[in-house]
Amino acid sequence: MKEMKRIGIFLVLLMSLGVLSGCQTKETSSEELPYARSESSVRKDKTTDRTITTQESYQLATRITISIYDEKEAPNSIFDAIFDLIAGYEDMISRNITDSYVSRINQAAGDAPVSVPDDLFNLIHQGITYADLSQGAFDISIGPLVNLWGIGTYEAKVPESSELEKALSKVDYHKIELDYDTKTVFLNEKDMFLDLGAIAKGYIADEIKALILEKGYTNAIINLGGNVLMVGNKPNSDYWSVGIRDPLSDSGTSLGILELNDNSVVSSGVYERFFEENGVRYHHLINPNTGYPEQNDLLAISIVSDVSVDGDALSTAVFVLGVEKGYELVESLEGVEALFIQSDKDIIVTPGLKSKFRLIDDTYKLVY
Ligand code: FAD
Ligand code: MG
Repeated sequence: MKEMKRIGIFLVLLMSLGVLSGCQTKETSSEELPYARSESSVRKDKTTDRTITTQESYQLATRITISIYDEKEAPNSIFDAIFDLIAGYEDMISRNITDSYVSRINQAAGDAPVSVPDDLFNLIHQGITYADLSQGAFDISIGPLVNLWGIGTYEAKVPESSELEKALSKVDYHKIELDYDTKTVFLNEKDMFLDLGAIAKGYIADEIKALILEKGYTNAIINLGGNVLMVGNKPNSDYWSVGIRDPLSDSGTSLGILELNDNSVVSSGVYERFFEENGVRYHHLINPNTGYPEQNDLLAISIVSDVSVDGDALSTAVFVLGVEKGYELVESLEGVEALFIQSDKDIIVTPGLKSKFRLIDDTYKLVY
């Protein structure tokens, strides 16, 4: 429901800006595109002394914003390439598109292996690696539980325990068989269901960054619905400022700022997709052991890493693991840092973020 509202608001926004009207160039004509997309907004930034060209789209059921910092306006063609790349991955990975490769794998569960493109094979391999690393707190075979709860859809409801038990029995990443020679994927039980929603945006962001660099741009910000990936450093500045959303604010205000360069920041929290019943909030981060949305001391978590696919998988994994085990996991990994926001409004950061996080909302408390 919330997602529907967001789509509506975004479309109205684009329309009010005139970007969905008939005045577009051929490349950006909304009639030819399966998704909403803005034209460029261009501004000269005094602090960076660069021209910032920004375009937005609505893809992956979220708002995508790309800002390129360069000497002059970045041409439409670079944004065409980026949004086409996202559309290509969406067609490959989406569990909601019936002929995507992921849907083909799901339809063939218990039946036959499916041959997939290298990209998807690698992504599934990485998903399994993170499932192992988090001892199953992160599990890309979570689909039967996600389908049952329906969080983010009109059908969201608390399931019967018999339904939960049945779905739980179909969630186990050990039953995903990868053949590294033939690049096939096999879910070895009927009704298993892959869901790459917790890792794919990070992977796609990394691919967008590679494309931007390949095209010769060295400074940019990629934002896939709050998954932020920096390309290079902020020109003429010490750092990019990335706002950390206050999980208790409906309007999306920031409670603090991370000051970083060439990093990825991915957040997961109870505010993203949820419904409430009898005063209980049921959000979309599901514990694969209990089958329920994970209820712990956390409201949200942000992961800072070099590569966004790592941050995306870890943000979900660490949320489900909770502060203690999550902190331990993050500390065991090189180049990965975390920020935990607890329901008692304490914020915990790992050592590498101490000098990089600035709290701006003093109703929260920074503890170490
Ligand atoms: P994250 O924390 O990164 O991921 C949470 C999501 O991962 C949950 O929504 C669930 O799907 C899954 N998950 C929950 N618990 C676990 C767990 N323990 N381990 C592993 N995974 C878990 N949304 C739509 O509403 N409609 C669409 O058509 C649609 N298409 C999409 C297509 C693609 C290719 C992608 C990448 C996303 C799409 N989405 C769509 C959004 C998607 O369903 C997720 O809601 C979104 O990716 C979650 O990202 P997040 O950053 O909010 O949370
Ligand atoms: Mg994630």
